[in-house]
Amino acid sequence: MSLIVQKYGGTSVASPERIQAVAERVGRTVASGHQVVVVVSAMSGETDRLIGLARAIQNPPSARELDVVLSTGEQVTIGLLAMALEAGGVPAVSYTGAQVRIRTDSAFNKARIEAIDADNVRADLNAGRVVVIAGFQGVDANNSITTLGRGGSDTTAVAMAAALKADECQIYTDVDGVYTTDPRIVPDARRLDRITYEEMLEMASLGAKVLQIRSVEFASKYQVSLRVLSSFADGPGTLITTEENIMEAALISGVTLNRDEAKLTIVGVPDRPGIASGILGPIAAANIEVDMIVQNTGADGSTDFTFTVHRNDFDKALSILEKQAEELKARKVESDRKIVKVSLVGVGMRSHAGIASRAFAALAREGINIQMISTSEIKISVVIDEKYAELGVRTLHTEFGLAGEA
Ligand code: ADP
Ligand code: ASP
Ligand code: MG
Repeated sequence: MSLIVQKYGGTSVASPERIQAVAERVGRTVASGHQVVVVVSAMSGETDRLIGLARAIQNPPSARELDVVLSTGEQVTIGLLAMALEAGGVPAVSYTGAQVRIRTDSAFNKARIEAIDADNVRADLNAGRVVVIAGFQGVDANNSITTLGRGGSDTTAVAMAAALKADECQIYTDVDGVYTTDPRIVPDARRLDRITYEEMLEMASLGAKVLQIRSVEFASKYQVSLRVLSSFADGPGTLITTEENIMEAALISGVTLNRDEAKLTIVGVPDRPGIASGILGPIAAANIEVDMIVQNTGADGSTDFTFTVHRNDFDKALSILEKQAEELKARKVESDRKIVKVSLVGVGMRSHAGIASRAFAALAREGINIQMISTSEIKISVVIDEKYAELGVRTLHTEFGLAGEA
């Protein structure tokens, strides 16, 4: 008998009818002889609604109390799904994160799972029950409720699969797999049969929100066999696996779009040792993560220093940089919120030269100016004007032959 963890996202449990449909799918999995753990999200829109409610009372909300409020979304769906299963004759029991004892650190709103005590869950499974677990939540060492960051139910599912040594972790969502790019942006994007953990991690980190980044990290670390599928239609979905399990690596697996960053430039600082750390030190001290960095020296020997941060950190970063500009006697500070990052991802890049120049030429033909570039072994990212976001994605997607049938 094999053990399967199934996770259903917000759109998959958005109404009583959808919850019934999930119960039927789970019932079929049980009937075919599997033990099943189900992890569910809140009904779609619910987490946003709860954030809005909290902000209407206190803005910004207390981080600890926000998690108390947010965790209720998933508590509703576990109860409803367990009822739907029972009503359909499938014995089931619901668990909140705290009831499982999904232990996290105390970083409210973005907690990390540290340990899972799965004994009670295993006992229920062995007694023939489906176990329905609230995604996105845990409990810290002080018994405070924590949440795992937006999209965190994916991570709950993979962590449960790792803790229970499940045979497969299935992520049911509103698309039937991982695509070469977001199918909402490029309708002729193609579903991938398989993708490596490494590529999926890059894609998630670079903006493909189909899986939370942490869930892919967990899957890779514990070698959890992970599959993304549709809860609306049957099909093989996409298997996320090791490179050895993929016969022929594609040159490029996907294109991603990230709209969450903003750009800051300090113009005309003296070109001498210590400048970069002088600029980024106070930014890091304020807990702001910097993504891309470019420094270039002008003819007059002074330096322009440009970097990107998350848009949520933009205001804070700007005011720190303005102070730094005075101290470093810089000419001025420039900033731009209206940028996006478009990236190409593929393990095939390792063995092929010329991908970057081909990508840049394709963007140039469309008149898209590249503002910043960063590369790693398996990805190339460019920062471009926000107004070219979709065009940039489509251009690269077409250039590397990703559209249509495999
Ligand atoms: P859920 O609520 O089930 O967790 P999400 O909205 O978090 O679902 O993730 C699914 C969405 O991810 C899809 O509707 C799709 O628009 C988006 N997405 C972005 N990039 C990709 C991609 N490369 N492949 C598939 N879906 C993607
Ligand atoms: N409900 C949470 C969110 O909307 C967690 C999740 O759906 O994975 O982010
Ligand atoms: Mg999600």
